[in-house]
Amino acid sequence: MESRELSLYIRGLIPGDKKDADANRPVSVWKELDRLRGFPEKTVVCIFRTTGCAWYRFSACSMCGYFNDTSDNIIDENLFKQVDELYNSLGDARVVKIFTSGSFLDPREVSPSVRNYFFEKMKGKVDKILVESRTEYIRKDILEDIKRHNIPVRIAIGLESANDYIMKYSINKGSTLKKYLDAARLIKEEGFELRTYLLFKPPFISELSAIADVENSVKISAQYSNDISINPMNIQKNTLVEKLWKKGLYRPPRMISLARILIEMSGHKYPVLSYPTGGGKERGVHDDKFDKKLLDLIVKSSLEQNFSELKEYYSSLDLSLYNYELDLEDKLLLQTDYNTLVKRISRSSIFY
Ligand code: SF4
Repeated sequence: MESRELSLYIRGLIPGDKKDADANRPVSVWKELDRLRGFPEKTVVCIFRTTGCAWYRFSACSMCGYFNDTSDNIIDENLFKQVDELYNSLGDARVVKIFTSGSFLDPREVSPSVRNYFFEKMKGKVDKILVESRTEYIRKDILEDIKRHNIPVRIAIGLESANDYIMKYSINKGSTLKKYLDAARLIKEEGFELRTYLLFKPPFISELSAIADVENSVKISAQYSNDISINPMNIQKNTLVEKLWKKGLYRPPRMISLARILIEMSGHKYPVLSYPTGGGKERGVHDDKFDKKLLDLIVKSSLEQNFSELKEYYSSLDLSLYNYELDLEDKLLLQTDYNTLVKRISRSSIFY
């Protein structure tokens, strides 16, 4: 499929009708642990409901279903109220992560007035903020405007892969490595911090190729990043990846592979971490048999940046079947998920 065809196909999967949602309230606010100040601590996470990512007007990334959380009619007044709700949920947490189903720095999604209101509200209450953005909004004028508020900010960019071919034909990111590198340099020049997101196992490539791709992307992005978050695929609704998965043409990555990447990349200058969404679940990173200890160790070692326990546990596992499956899949043209197909067929009514 040509890249334009792919983009249009993915665009066609975005549902036209949005479920009713309260425009004055964030999609969700919760607390979790992260290490944005270099140690694990309670962090408030807030997803603001906005009009969503600018890329949705043309297409979407092949794994992105965040459009499910957007609303077309959000105006500044709604976002002021959402900021107030976040403010009231802070408690004693000193660190905040903001997600928007798009880019916090896109002035059409979060206007300068809302952005300034947000930073003014956070002043004195929090010591570190993470916001996410596509590279096109990482502009000098916007960064200078944020700097006036004197709050340390880490900007997160979804590089996903340092391989432009994968970015274009597998992820449909609408971006390039060069755009990431330019944005990363500007972030550093302006005195901000950078978190780089990498996507582990986009569609159409084998798990072995995906491991190699993440490891190569870590090496390229490490010199610019304060930390690198490896996000294993989590299958979201109304996405290309979900369509492939339902047809048995995509299998989410294995947790053993994620552990392997973390162990192999843990000696880098900046922290490599992973807090998998949907870990152990059918739609998330999982092995054929759920290994809670492995998942817990992945999260614990990411938070503490100490991978010795994970290494020890990983070395104790019998990986012969895992290695066999990965080698076999790597030789196949289509990434067929035979295990899931067999399970689905055996559950289907044709046998009854
Ligand atoms: S850039 Fe981010 S929000 Fe926009 S479509 Fe891609 S993953 Fe989704």
